[in-house]
Amino acid sequence: MTGKPMASDFTDSELAAYLDEALPTDLMSAIESTLRTDRGLADRLAAIVRRRDAGVHSLGEVWRSARLTCPAREQLGGLLLETLDDGVAEYVRFHVETLACRQCQANLADLRAQAATADPGLAERRIRYFQSSAGYLRRDS
Ligand SMILES: [Zn+2]
Repeated sequence: MTGKPMASDFTDSELAAYLDEALPTDLMSAIESTLRTDRGLADRLAAIVRRRDAGVHSLGEVWRSARLTCPAREQLGGLLLETLDDGVAEYVRFHVETLACRQCQANLADLRAQAATADPGLAERRIRYFQSSAGYLRRDS
């Protein structure tokens, strides 16, 4: 990391996850040390806490609570194939990249390897199969 992190380096969803100690250690300590010197970050955290007290659930909080449930494998596959809705793709990326869920990172690497080694059509058909078996592609019977 070059230079001191600033309040603007952190997103609201990262701050919400920080409050729940749900971030990787390096990100936790980056926020912590920024908090000591950056008034703006403290204000933003306070605002998040106030919204919570008021029962307002931000997108970040929804994500944070959904974090306990990893995205389904077909959603990870959808991320690779870019077939997800923007909001879902954003959440899956947040889960995998920002929260750095090891299980999902491994899953994603596995899907990526499959797509790279097997004939690409096969990997895609497999993912389609996952999607259809999960009810993503509904068929009338
Ligand atoms: Zn996960």
